[in-house]
Amino acid sequence: MKGIIFDIQHFCVHDGPGIRTVVFLKGCPLRCIWCCNPESQILAPELMFDAEKCIDCKKCAVCDAIKFESTISLNRDLCNACGVCDEVCPTNALRIVGKHVEAREVIEEVLKDFVFYKKSGGVTFSGGEPFMQPDFLTEMLRISKEEALDVAIETSGFASWEKIERAIRYIDHVLFDIKAVDGEKHVLLTGVRNDLILENLRRISKEREVVLRCVIVEGYNFESEEDALKLADISRSLGIERIDLLRYHRFGEKKYRMLGRNYELKVRDTGLIHRIRDVLKKEGLRVSVGGLI
Ligand code: SF4
Ligand code: SF4
Repeated sequence: MKGIIFDIQHFCVHDGPGIRTVVFLKGCPLRCIWCCNPESQILAPELMFDAEKCIDCKKCAVCDAIKFESTISLNRDLCNACGVCDEVCPTNALRIVGKHVEAREVIEEVLKDFVFYKKSGGVTFSGGEPFMQPDFLTEMLRISKEEALDVAIETSGFASWEKIERAIRYIDHVLFDIKAVDGEKHVLLTGVRNDLILENLRRISKEREVVLRCVIVEGYNFESEEDALKLADISRSLGIERIDLLRYHRFGEKKYRMLGRNYELKVRDTGLIHRIRDVLKKEGLRVSVGGLI
């Protein structure tokens, strides 16, 4: 069973208990306006171009999509992500992100870290949205359990219950992203409604321990302490005790340029994340602030 991934990261400590190897699956049905991994969104390989690394050697003049005038120009409409330019570029300025791999091959790579997991570490499947590739994901989960790995998943919860139900038996920990608590805001900020997400959260939380994760994008998904109270209500009603608040960051901005896309978000920071933390703590929840996604 093959699927498409865009990264495997080793020795991660913010993606489930202990030391973890994180497998990033490509493809996501959401378009969060603050997404820091835009290369995760499309379910296909894509070409990234880093102008800062280009030394103008012209070795990549191998197809109609790449032209040289005063400098290199890339016509993405003509690019089919064949990867030939990636192979000849000496500086890695041109790079294909996303590759098709066998489920077993991924887990063999993960198992190289087995000795570091000790009691609590393991593998985490992230994305994109892992449930965008349900058959590939379920096969990797099955093999992971066959190999006695501790398994976590990071999900937006936007998937049919049928896909989640098939996979849940192999999953030990669920890190569930909450993008926005208000339904209308959720549509505006991510492109999808949150009814299905909240219903899946309810169903998953009956079967597994769930940690909620929220990137606080001040003035966008969280505007005031009132949003924190709504989040506390959701958590308490489902018996969820822990929420990880994640700081918004702009590390993904350059990747938008490398994909030929714009990044327009202007976020103010008045310390709302700390006020939200305080509200949630007062409501009896276990809260951490930090981490990167
Ligand atoms: S990936 Fe292939 S099609 Fe796209 S620019 Fe490079 S050589 Fe041309
Ligand atoms: S091969 Fe790489 S370094 Fe050379 S011109 Fe093309 S993108 Fe730039």
